[in-house]
Amino acid sequence: MMSEAEVRAIIDENICDLRAALGVHEWSIDVGYSTSPGGSVATCTADPKRHRATLVFNPGEFDDESEVLQFLLHELLHLYNAEVHLYSDAVHPLVSEREFATLEVFRTNATEHIVHCIECLLKHTFNKTAKKLIAAVRRREAKG
Ligand SMILES: [Zn+2]
Repeated sequence: MMSEAEVRAIIDENICDLRAALGVHEWSIDVGYSTSPGGSVATCTADPKRHRATLVFNPGEFDDESEVLQFLLHELLHLYNAEVHLYSDAVHPLVSEREFATLEVFRTNATEHIVHCIECLLKHTFNKTAKKLIAAVRRREAKG
């Protein structure tokens, strides 16, 4: 279990380099912290029209730095398929709330699956963890 200050320091130190590694510069990203016990470990809420996103981390759910960085990677990867929210916005007025809730379950599961596949591709095919992606950006920047 980590404190908010510890998690915040890790995020602040690494988010720019991880964003550079993933090429998600066009997004304006706010980071928040929620300490609700039993809540989500981390979430990403994205508005693809405005390229604005909010990441929220629950510090009490993390055990160490590498776990924080893997979740930071996971939440940033959600930006790759954030465009799917436009589908939700378009479909919402066309269906009942009950139908929309069902469609949202499928959309959420599909986006989690896509993010999971990208994580697996990075880790198992390219041997890239969040830490390695960040290190690669720093080596590239050090060379000028
Ligand atoms: Zn996710």
